[in-house]
Amino acid sequence: MLIAGAGPVGLTAAANLVRRGVPVTVLEAGAALSRESRASTFHPPTLDMLADLGAADALIAQGLTAPRFQYRSKRHGIIGEFDFVGLADATRHPHRLQSEQLNLTRILYEALRANPLFQMRFHSAVAAVDQSAAGVAVTIERAGRRETRTGRWLIGADGARSDVRRSLGIAFAGFTWPERFLVVSTPFDFYSVIPGLASVTYVADPERWHFLLQIPELWRVMFPIAPAESDELALTPAFAQALLATIVPGVSDYQIAHTTLYRVHQRVAETFRLGRAFLAGDAAHINNPLGGMGMNGGIHDAMNLTERLAAVWHGRAGDEELDRYDRQRRLVTLEYIEKQSIRNKRNLESDGTAFMAELREIAADAGRTRDYLERVSMIASLRRAEQLG
Ligand SMILES: Cc1cc2nc3c(=O)[nH]c(=O)nc-3n(C[C@H](O)[C@H](O)[C@H](O)COP(=O)(O)OP(=O)(O)OC[C@H]3O[C@@H](n4cnc5c(N)ncnc54)[C@H](O)[C@@H]3O)c2cc1C
Repeated sequence: MLIAGAGPVGLTAAANLVRRGVPVTVLEAGAALSRESRASTFHPPTLDMLADLGAADALIAQGLTAPRFQYRSKRHGIIGEFDFVGLADATRHPHRLQSEQLNLTRILYEALRANPLFQMRFHSAVAAVDQSAAGVAVTIERAGRRETRTGRWLIGADGARSDVRRSLGIAFAGFTWPERFLVVSTPFDFYSVIPGLASVTYVADPERWHFLLQIPELWRVMFPIAPAESDELALTPAFAQALLATIVPGVSDYQIAHTTLYRVHQRVAETFRLGRAFLAGDAAHINNPLGGMGMNGGIHDAMNLTERLAAVWHGRAGDEELDRYDRQRRLVTLEYIEKQSIRNKRNLESDGTAFMAELREIAADAGRTRDYLERVSMIASLRRAEQLG
């Protein structure tokens, strides 16, 4: 089995295949695992899956457990607060985990590297994919030379700009938001100046919303950057300081650890399967990061697909089993991940009045609270996928 990309999705897929006795070669373009600071939220069912792979305990030890999340608006203050403890009967991990995705890739890689069923090839960018009824052949660019590798199936987990997707000619329809998002990390202690703050807090505002998220040692604060504000301006320390100064009146001059500016898209591949090749994670779908569903959804793809591939590999299921992956994961990506992330962004762009009314109605009704928690924790999307058969 070939996997393009050693991000969280490619390595989760590898870990589950190896656990099921399927030999795997991971082809990674980079010289080493990525050190980029990106996703930092793991949802309850994702932690359950990672526990099955033996990776959750180490990840939890390196992260911060967050049972509570909060919504505020600049106009109304706290407008809603929820606690995942209400899901204790539906998950072994009734909390979010705040830990960087680079911790997960290292944990998975360390656990896999000595396994004889696992091979990792760094400096191996997949450039082209060919397939026949019997297998796939990928062309790799390695140290300026082209090599071919063959396998029975290929998982393209090579990120948003997926060369596997491009080589297969699969369209990636959707759109790019006009604004970019800026993430500013600071060791500042926001608890000391914001009473009642939760470690995951969304603050709505029509002019400039922000999102506060604590990880070990730092807070990450995300802001939208308007089209008229250039990348150069947004990346100046003075600009980041001016944004941070809007969080708590009178508090300014923050210590800044990092700033990252990035474009935000909503796109879904027209199919997640073409013959013997599959797309998973960002190669298959991308969304804005509000709600923390991109990497989580990708890990859910990886688990769904590799359970089926392992069954087919061992002769326990036929090829039609693999179509279920596209049917289930593509639909829930459209119905849940894309819709919910767009809704989260719209709510934050409001002054919070209608959002507050909605959150209060949800909080006042135990059944609606439960449904809401299942939706934001992504449990509902997994259940829906199963129902699709
Ligand atoms: C700032 C930021 C914050 C985010 N926050 C969250 C969050 O809190 N929660 C969440 O769920 N998601 C979040 N996301 C999204 C999340 O980072 C992605 O969904 C996640 O990284 C997808 O994992 P992946 O393995 O599919 O792809 P990637 O992490 O992009 O990994 C792809 C891998 O493939 C390799 N590669 C690329 N091209 C090739 C090739 N041709 N051949 C071989 N290898 C190749 C790359 O080097 C890389 O190692 C965030 C994203 C950003 C940018």
